[in-house]
Amino acid sequence: FDDIQVFDPELAEAISKEIGRQNDHIELIASENFVSKAVMAAMGSPLTNKYAEGYPAKRYYGGCEYVDIAENLAIERAKELFGCTYANVQPHSGAQANMAVFFALIKPGDTVMGMNLAHGGHLTHGSPVNMSGSYYNIIPYGVNEEGFIDYEEVRRIALECKPKLIVAGASAYARKIDFKKFREIADEVGAFLMVDMAHIAGLVAAGHHESPIPYAHVTTTTTHKTLRGPRGGMILSSAEFAEEYKLNKAIFPGIQGGPLMHVIAAKAVCFKEALDPSFKEYAGKVIENAQALSNGLINRGFNIVSGGTDNHLMLVDLQNKGVTGKETEKLLDAANITCNKNTVPNDPASPFVTSGIRLGTPAVTTRGMNTEDMDTIAEAIAILIEDVDVNKAKAMEIVRNLTKKYPLY
Ligand code: PLP
Repeated sequence: FDDIQVFDPELAEAISKEIGRQNDHIELIASENFVSKAVMAAMGSPLTNKYAEGYPAKRYYGGCEYVDIAENLAIERAKELFGCTYANVQPHSGAQANMAVFFALIKPGDTVMGMNLAHGGHLTHGSPVNMSGSYYNIIPYGVNEEGFIDYEEVRRIALECKPKLIVAGASAYARKIDFKKFREIADEVGAFLMVDMAHIAGLVAAGHHESPIPYAHVTTTTTHKTLRGPRGGMILSSAEFAEEYKLNKAIFPGIQGGPLMHVIAAKAVCFKEALDPSFKEYAGKVIENAQALSNGLINRGFNIVSGGTDNHLMLVDLQNKGVTGKETEKLLDAANITCNKNTVPNDPASPFVTSGIRLGTPAVTTRGMNTEDMDTIAEAIAILIEDVDVNKAKAMEIVRNLTKKYPLY
């Protein structure tokens, strides 16, 4: 950082302010986390200088002997962590991992079932504004009135539209996902099952959510959410399936060029951290904290979609509070609480306004906060929504106390 300050003070100031923001805000964005210094050091290492197109021992460039070690460490640890026989650690992001699987398994125009974005799915699962939604025939499924995936309805739609691929996994779904049921449905209609476990990967690694590995033909993930690694993606499967469907080729040369070796090194560090027993404890606390925050909000008159959470996140339906998601995101930000607006199932408001917010606990749990602190955060959220002008100072005081008590880095 000193080097940046000397050479580029303008940029140094932006970085320094961002570090300050991360320190003095309560981070409730469900997809964010704080990586360890070791993960960050790997990302900032000279491995960024290396071109390594191809795979370990089969590269298109010389001088890859040491980055091969880094990539092999990441691959072997990923396989151990998730109990599978194939891992590709090269996807630059979750979106790239998903795109590569589509590229490997299906053809443009094929029918794909994915969870509706407005019901908690991800853009890359078939949104019309994404490549997935414009190249493939997407038939979405969603959640029922209570906010749960209705597996009978998923089956009915699958029998009707006969998809080639079913995508399970979500960005804003607070309940356990039954991967076995998804596989039964996929088998019944002769479809591939891809599970995108991006949000819950850390919980799966720790054994706090059922693993998709025994059920999915292919599993994709990001490495930077509950898994607490560098920004990036990964593809997991069995060695036989990966060989038959040429999953490696779909990433390179299919949709990517040179891998980001510094990020792959950081993934190796992340997987080593996740294999440590302390990570199991961390992931358990993430869920406990999410349930405490959800209960704290319910006790203060908030409606939580599906009535609670089984994982690291919750969707707060604000319709009974007379505020939109957009307004709430802004007024919480006024007191240094960061979250994102989110549509709720059957939302009458537009995706830019929304009737809900999504809250998650991976980042605050990494800082060391506990279930009592979650109740205090619920109080700050409640009073801000009640009357921001009257209660802003009081909420700021709550945030200041918590962020001082649990310093970052
Ligand atoms: N899949 C799911 C379920 C996600 O929630 C996200 C990101 O939020 C992604 C994929 C995409 O990940 P990335 O932002 O790394 O492309």
